[in-house]
Amino acid sequence: MAAVPHVVVITFPFASHAVKLFRLARALAAAAPAATFSFLSTAGSIAQLQEKNQDALEGNLRFVEVPDGLMSPSSGGAAPVPPPNHMARLGLFIAAAEAGGVKVALETARIAAGGVRVTCVVGDAFVWMAAEAAAGVGAPWVPVWTGGPSALLAHLQGDALRDDIGDKAASRADELLTAHPGLGSYRVRDLPDGCVFGEMHLPIVALFRRVADQLLVPRAATAVALNTFPGLLPDDVTAALAAELPEVLPIGPFHLLPVPGDDNANAADPHGCLAWLDGHPAHAVAYASFGTVVTAVVGGQEELRELAAGLEASDAPFLWSLPKEYWPLLPPGFLDLERSKVVPWAPQAAVLRHASVGGFVTHAGWASVLEGVAGGVPMACRPFFSDQRMNARMVAHVWGFGTVFEQPMTRATVAEAVSSLLAGDQGTRMQERRDMAATAFAADGGSRKNLDKLLNIVCPPQDQ
Ligand code: UDP
Repeated sequence: MAAVPHVVVITFPFASHAVKLFRLARALAAAAPAATFSFLSTAGSIAQLQEKNQDALEGNLRFVEVPDGLMSPSSGGAAPVPPPNHMARLGLFIAAAEAGGVKVALETARIAAGGVRVTCVVGDAFVWMAAEAAAGVGAPWVPVWTGGPSALLAHLQGDALRDDIGDKAASRADELLTAHPGLGSYRVRDLPDGCVFGEMHLPIVALFRRVADQLLVPRAATAVALNTFPGLLPDDVTAALAAELPEVLPIGPFHLLPVPGDDNANAADPHGCLAWLDGHPAHAVAYASFGTVVTAVVGGQEELRELAAGLEASDAPFLWSLPKEYWPLLPPGFLDLERSKVVPWAPQAAVLRHASVGGFVTHAGWASVLEGVAGGVPMACRPFFSDQRMNARMVAHVWGFGTVFEQPMTRATVAEAVSSLLAGDQGTRMQERRDMAATAFAADGGSRKNLDKLLNIVCPPQDQ
């Protein structure tokens, strides 16, 4: 008799990764009710997910902790050391995961599941050590890349890019990468940090190199799941990814992954964003948000005030998702503007699907870009780091679906960009891709078929 499938889904516990992987875990658990699913993350990240998902979770899905690396050895594991900054926490997590944390967590998951052995590991590609841990228990490894696929391609081609560009990134910044398969639409300056330039000493840079190396190990991964849908990426990007990786499975957009009872239509909206949008005509409102990490970078800087001034100067009604700690930095009287609404958090995917939203000012995080595409909302992108420059380039120069701020935002450039998004017809250019996103998970949708393939890997048919 076939073993009962026990699928471990492990996330990278920073930024918005856990939310994305958790949605995937829920979709898989709902589609394979006979299988057992363990969702692995750090204690802090699990607590956040539990707070946000208080509705009934799939009964075959349980949380299992992975060490966060915060416990100091000298404390005997009794008390956490004071939380260091984001990058330091990231470094501690990676060190703990590499020192056996993932292997131990797989064993904890097995014990918590009543001794049912782990039969498949679906893992955020950032947690590259899951490959070895999966091999150790004889389970296939299916990495998941949640970010922009073009940035993944750049990391996979990192050695060739470094050989080509060396230390000339600054003088060749505007050169197109035409010699590199799938990267011909991008300039040297668009590459992700750590590829050929950036703060090379940061732990995230070493992480990206390690992730790419692991994905390129022949036969290590059974398939690679991507947050995109068939038909969205240009053909040369799709072909180049297929040439580098084993079976590539576009199973996005992740925010539309089928999770029973959670179809975004009933999204929590504690600040009344959707009701406020109901009071506006079609395509009249600009929505601004910078994801879960960037606000900490832009916040406190002059640029935040320029963005505020630009939104005010655009004359358009706007909705801005901005964590409350940054509100004191806004210009005097800004929060009282009658035509605006500033909230600490918005149900973004639902906001971007609302008929009254006609433009999106974004950091071009990949999930945000996909939510903009699915909502048919053109974007003004202010990329900061990681995959954001390539994502922004795809939005503006590959799809022609908005614009990029090549320099820090100013009052004038924001006002101009917002007015042009709201006045233009760019939404119609993306109609085909927007419709593909909307039907990606319909019975014959592209992502539906790939999700079924993924299900066949994680729970072979006789086990479902
Ligand atoms: N998000 C949201 N409400 C907010 C701000 C962000 O729902 O007020 C969600 C957004 O919909 C997206 C995610 O947070 O799914 C941000 O992911 P992205 O990849 O765009 O950026 P990151 O946070 O990873 O930089």
